[in-house]
Amino acid sequence: MEQRQKFRIDTATPKEQKENMASPDLKTKLEILADAAKYDASCASSGAPKRDSKNGKGMGSTTGAGICHSYTPDGRCVSLLKILLTNSCIFDCTYCINRRSSNVRRARFTVDEVVGLTLEFYKRNYIEGLFLSSGIIRDADYTMEQLVAVARRLREEHHFRGYIHLKAIPEASQELIAQAGRHADRLSINIELPTETGLAQYAPEKKQTTIRGTMAKLKLRIDEVQAERKAPRFSPSGQSTQMIVGADGANDATILTTSAALYASYGLRRIYYSAFSPIPDSSRALPLKAPPLMREHRLYQADWLMRYYGFDSSEILAGDAAGMLDLEIDPKFAWALRNRAQFPLDVNAAPREMLLRVPGLGARTVDRMIETRRHKTLRLDDIARLKGAVKRARPFIVTPDHRPVQDLDSAAIRARLAPPPKQLSLF
Ligand code: SF4
Repeated sequence: MEQRQKFRIDTATPKEQKENMASPDLKTKLEILADAAKYDASCASSGAPKRDSKNGKGMGSTTGAGICHSYTPDGRCVSLLKILLTNSCIFDCTYCINRRSSNVRRARFTVDEVVGLTLEFYKRNYIEGLFLSSGIIRDADYTMEQLVAVARRLREEHHFRGYIHLKAIPEASQELIAQAGRHADRLSINIELPTETGLAQYAPEKKQTTIRGTMAKLKLRIDEVQAERKAPRFSPSGQSTQMIVGADGANDATILTTSAALYASYGLRRIYYSAFSPIPDSSRALPLKAPPLMREHRLYQADWLMRYYGFDSSEILAGDAAGMLDLEIDPKFAWALRNRAQFPLDVNAAPREMLLRVPGLGARTVDRMIETRRHKTLRLDDIARLKGAVKRARPFIVTPDHRPVQDLDSAAIRARLAPPPKQLSLF
């Protein structure tokens, strides 16, 4: 018979009871804990324009009341209530606004409050699910119990069928993580920083071996459940992670190498890159300025190349001494310019894996081209019709009606095609 964990949800310590007595009202808690959750990019809609209705004016805010948009594995855009259970934390990770030594206003939801808010927002059609994370309260197990209690009550007592994404605490017991996986659609554990040295320097209470060990156990369980049709449900949307970019000195080559190893070892659905934001009263070891948001964007593009375009992490930046992605042009275009000897390609004969490397040709366009060239010879117009970006692809392809000018060097192509630089908005 299934052993059910006894939840210690009503056993607040005297200190916690005192804090609760002085606790802000629900609306203020929501403001504080939704704002605190925005630093977790694991379900963010990157690049969305900033909209805010915190002052009570306007409609359609994606941030003011903790509602964010996320994409499900099948590509649907869903709105989630994205909050922390609490922004109090016993850990002191230097890069984190919620760290123990941070001088921010603290708040903590009860399990009842999160359940109530989720149901209310859901019934009003504001959200389709919940993204719940938390600072570490007391210890890892206690915190995980609270997160699981929210999900369990939503599922078992209120028969909530919406999407639930829970943050798994790596140091929590396997039994609690197993329970989290039973109720959540997705679990995520943040790897935090790309290197073990960085983690030891900036988050000494966290251990990369523990984080990776828990990710490995999640993968094992997810794989087992997928293999056995009658196995009980466990995190059907898999696991994801988040990496902070620009807090430590890791370059993009190191970040991409770490990402490739994470995808290969733990079957992650997604790695989210979160540009470090400077925080008040932070350690001197941290940079004073945020990295350019374009760096985060380029990392997502490089990540895409590894997952869908057959690029190996080592070749994306091969030949770049600094190991940093070019901020002015996308990584596929940069790779093609560094590897001019491999072009131009005859689009009517080149294999799929090489066509995927042509700037301006996306994976879908390449598949359509391969399908079409079975019964007709592709010309430039056909590529445009199949949604290829012909202007971008021209220097790299040959068709019966086009042959690029051979003496056009990489610098000239870059000057002609590089878009004017633009800064993205974070939220
Ligand atoms: S454990 Fe999480 S919430 Fe706590 S300080 Fe570290 S990053 Fe912040």
